[in-house]
Amino acid sequence: MQVATFLAYLAAAALFIVGIRRLRRPETARSGNTLAAVGMVIALIATLFVIEFQSLLEIGAAVLIGSVLGAVSAQRVQMTAMPQVVAAYNGLGGGAAALIALSEFYHAETVGSGESLVAAITVPLTILIGSVSFAGSIIAFTKLQELAFAGSVSFPLQQVVNALLFVGILVLAANAISGGAIIPALSPVASVVVVLVASLLLGILLVIPIGGADMPIVISLLNACTGLAAAASGFVLENYILIIGGTIVGASGTILTRLMSSALGRPLGKIIFAGIAAAGTAGKGDQEEREVNDVNAGAVGEYLSEEAQKVVVVPGYGLAVAQAQGPMRDLLEVLEAEGKEVLFGIHPVAGRMPGHMNVLLTEAGVPYDKLYDIEDINPEFPDTDAVIIVGANDVVNPAANDPEQDTPISGMPILDVEQAERVIFIKRSLSPGFAGVDNPLFYDREKTMMLFSDAKQGLQEVVEAVKNG
Ligand code: NDP
Repeated sequence: MQVATFLAYLAAAALFIVGIRRLRRPETARSGNTLAAVGMVIALIATLFVIEFQSLLEIGAAVLIGSVLGAVSAQRVQMTAMPQVVAAYNGLGGGAAALIALSEFYHAETVGSGESLVAAITVPLTILIGSVSFAGSIIAFTKLQELAFAGSVSFPLQQVVNALLFVGILVLAANAISGGAIIPALSPVASVVVVLVASLLLGILLVIPIGGADMPIVISLLNACTGLAAAASGFVLENYILIIGGTIVGASGTILTRLMSSALGRPLGKIIFAGIAAAGTAGKGDQEEREVNDVNAGAVGEYLSEEAQKVVVVPGYGLAVAQAQGPMRDLLEVLEAEGKEVLFGIHPVAGRMPGHMNVLLTEAGVPYDKLYDIEDINPEFPDTDAVIIVGANDVVNPAANDPEQDTPISGMPILDVEQAERVIFIKRSLSPGFAGVDNPLFYDREKTMMLFSDAKQGLQEVVEAVKNG
């Protein structure tokens, strides 16, 4: 490799690292994203020099199509649909890595030729990880988009089937690497094709049982897998920037996965290997039979004006769907104008992407120092007069702490809203949230007020009621 290319790759790698580092804070995240994108452009141009500008037409067409699709979808996507988009992009990355390895295999110098042991091993490895990541991400996409595989889909002996599939993939990969020495009846080409199909199946089977609080973790895990697949394809192509970029994604994705699984109390081994229990939802009939304290906005406004001094707001997915962040800020302002103390409790998986609520609320003008993490807000609840829960359920559901229930949110730390004097839900119905687990707090008629409304409309009415109250 020429010195200029080496230096360009080094600059690109440095920009990737600085870019990721800047993603840690909302104020620097945009510039971090731009820096990483500049790094990608540098890497692309340097790679054109490496391949001596061959296949320019094909590469140009691919870059153009990819850029247009990326730019249009990034402009159009709703923030609530970000996890699906991340899952889709992720899947494409994994699929691309698997296809690269497959095409290299057909060029045949790698597998079975004995030329490069590293390349021979990394071809089936890339196909395995890339295909699992592709198929798993597509399943995650369909779950998040609520197209199919809702909740946890499992069948008897699922883990045994997965284990057998994995062992079969390893045997076939070894057969491909050894030029058909293990199963002479199966040629290396046929072995690799079966590795690809079996890996796709494994990706599907690994992700269909996952749901609820585990979805953000599994998206992060698949992201790490795509990074590893890209790094492995870098070994196949002997391309340093792919190795570096893939390793950065793989390492950061792995760290994020571990942090999320420990923050949410969901051990990774349990998520991947133990499947998940069926959600403990109450049937519709149950909900209809149980009574709730159904109130109007006037009653909520009156309570807040007259009885509450310290108020904590818990936003969730429904706030984002209803685009209710503006009225949320208005409520903050009218309550503060009446001398109340108002804080916001933000759960790490509230909404549909990490940091979702922080971004929405700060963009609407809620001061950042009013947003409290779970560890900081939970000690505040015992002396809080009212908690207003807007379009959230899983993140405040005490069923997560119930040792009698095994649900998709069991063990996940929740915002301890029941410690407060009063709990006010603003949501449209008694429907549970993403994890499908009914919330016993809905039916606590002494403590809870249910304001059945769209979040935006409900908040606007409460703001008026407080002003007039
Ligand atoms: P939930 O999904 O638990 O609950 C959302 C609630 O919003 C529903 O009960 C729904 O009730 C209500 N809602 C929907 N639309 C409206 C509306 N227009 N107005 C008012 N309410 C509305 O949300 P949470 O934020 O509590 O929990 C997030 C869940 O998403 C967790 O299970 C998490 O694991 C998962 N997840 C999170 C990701 C992340 O990175 N943050 C990524 C992927 C999944 P109703 O229909 O009655 O109005």
